[in-house]
Amino acid sequence: MLIEIDSIFTLIGQAVVYLALLLLILAVLGSILIAHSFKTEKFIFPNFMLFSITILENLVKALFRLAGADDAIVDDVGISLKNKISMKKFRETPIEKRIIFLPQCLRAVNCPSKLSPEGMKCISCGSCEIGNARKYAENIGYKVFIVPGSSFIKRLVQKHKPKALLGVGCMTEIKAGLEMCEKLNLYGIGITLDRAGCVSTVLDWDKFYDFINFEE
Ligand code: SF4
Repeated sequence: MLIEIDSIFTLIGQAVVYLALLLLILAVLGSILIAHSFKTEKFIFPNFMLFSITILENLVKALFRLAGADDAIVDDVGISLKNKISMKKFRETPIEKRIIFLPQCLRAVNCPSKLSPEGMKCISCGSCEIGNARKYAENIGYKVFIVPGSSFIKRLVQKHKPKALLGVGCMTEIKAGLEMCEKLNLYGIGITLDRAGCVSTVLDWDKFYDFINFEE
């Protein structure tokens, strides 16, 4: 009996070691593909990469740090990959069913807008690009909101019931936003800020206009 229990523990021990080895091998392969994608902007085995980025995220990031590389590359590639996967469905969604969320940190420091239940009410004072961008996007048919945080996004999504969502924000916000879109079955696209922070953040507005102007 004692021998049988010993053998079970040995088997469990071996299984754990093999599983850990398997995960490590998958994470190494995933990391190589992610690094390659970051360099070439091409996605090889996208489903496997997505698995590495979502399920093995901590392990993959640890490998990046171990190799002396910036682990933000993993998030960067993850966002690009998710954008690519959602892009077709996003473009197929009628524009009036799409929402744009801009972060309040993009506003000028002297912004005179007031907070409302639908976010900051921009009066297009001309002190920052949001005024022009908002008008431009609304003229095309988008709904645009300037939001102070994710609680506003969730509330506005519940209220306006979009099918697709374009969010601008820092890497962490975009990552969380895309995960929220996956849970809510929305086609989410994220554009990351060129300089993140609490105030005076910077966006490549050309990238923003190019994106909303492009229709297949
Ligand atoms: S354009 Fe709009 S968001 Fe920008 S500073 Fe003026 S009121 Fe604020």
